[in-house]
Amino acid sequence: MKTTLIIGAGGVGRVVVHKCVQNADIFGKIILASRSIGRCQEIRSELLDADIEITTIDADITEDVKNLILKYNADIVINVALPYQDLSIMDACIATSTPYLDTANYEHPDEAKFEYKLQWARDEAFKKAGIMGLLGSGFDPGVSNVFCAYASKHYFDEIHTIDILDCNAGDHGYAFATNFNPEINLREVSANGRYWENGEWIETKPMEIKMLWDYPEVGERESYLLYHEEIESLVKHIKGLKRIRFFMTFGESYLTHLKCLENVGMLGIKEIEHKGQKIIPMEFLKTLLPDPASLGVRTKGKTNIGIVAEGIKDGKRRKIYIYQVSDHEKCFAEVNSQAVSYTTGVPAMIGAKLMLEGKYKGLGVFNIEEFDPDIFMEELKTQGLPWKIKELEV
Ligand code: NDP
Repeated sequence: MKTTLIIGAGGVGRVVVHKCVQNADIFGKIILASRSIGRCQEIRSELLDADIEITTIDADITEDVKNLILKYNADIVINVALPYQDLSIMDACIATSTPYLDTANYEHPDEAKFEYKLQWARDEAFKKAGIMGLLGSGFDPGVSNVFCAYASKHYFDEIHTIDILDCNAGDHGYAFATNFNPEINLREVSANGRYWENGEWIETKPMEIKMLWDYPEVGERESYLLYHEEIESLVKHIKGLKRIRFFMTFGESYLTHLKCLENVGMLGIKEIEHKGQKIIPMEFLKTLLPDPASLGVRTKGKTNIGIVAEGIKDGKRRKIYIYQVSDHEKCFAEVNSQAVSYTTGVPAMIGAKLMLEGKYKGLGVFNIEEFDPDIFMEELKTQGLPWKIKELEV
């Protein structure tokens, strides 16, 4: 029987545990390890009949993660802690020759800059250890990459442009809250935007470029250009691309709060002194904001995430839209989590399932679009994330 080690018991971790239990024939025994035991206990109490053991870990310490992997003889590590822990967990996987998967690329706690460089640099070490690492197996990155690979394989001879379109039309009733880890979310949306065109990166001011997009089952929403990590790997792996951009929707209230918090310095990530105590404003803000895991029960509405690709097929121009719609309340009814965590946790489970089944295999560090998208697309249909394809007018 296999043993699956899941690190991180947040919103996404909860979904991954539920989904692995639904596929227990593949995942076997589940070890859920996280910084605080309380969250692990909560998740286990929702799945009392399942074979789950819980434990604490500080995943910043490679040696501790290594000992944890060895203690349980894990067959795979699913990292759904925070991006700060990616490298320490990858190094523990290298030291113990254990396959690795994550959903977000590495970010240093002191610098709001995320990139694949340091994870890709471990490719040789993964090869030497005889293991595979799958990076970015969430929704975006993750399914968005799989959609691009699928479009490229079946719908185009050449893809020229891709827009990734991420809409969360959920309403949790709070004036301001983030749907996943506030620190990671706010660092992402307050950074400069960036997109890739004709071989060059073009930088924009935060929220400088926007467009109105009509999202099926949601309606029209203002969508803002952001830099998002999957662009870095898609530029490398989808041949012939001339432009790729990422857009995300934000409501007026969210943007007004964001601007105000930024203006007063609450998004700062450098230590400041307050009444003789050292604090990091962004961390303090996280303490004040609602825990994303608590939003599930009150969130209504839908998410719609997809890609629009344009290019040439059989000598003619073509444009297609591949998208997935999830309903917050339905997700909550199934796994006690809202759709943002659900749409991340399900693809993490699918990536790990395909690795354990040997359907996705290789030595080294990979991004998901490097594998055959068809089997992933099939799994999405049966594991709770059915998708649609629409032909658009060119
Ligand atoms: P949460 O903040 O809800 O959960 C993170 C969990 O990791 C918490 O349980 C936290 O512990 C634990 N953790 C933090 N630091 C450590 C540490 N040093 N050692 C052990 N455990 C630790 O985040 P989410 O569940 O929302 O996000 C999880 C991951 O998924 C993030 O990397 C995020 O960027 C990624 N993500 C990816 C998406 C995609 O589509 N690809 C979309 C959304 C998220 P504690 O309970 O003590 O705080």
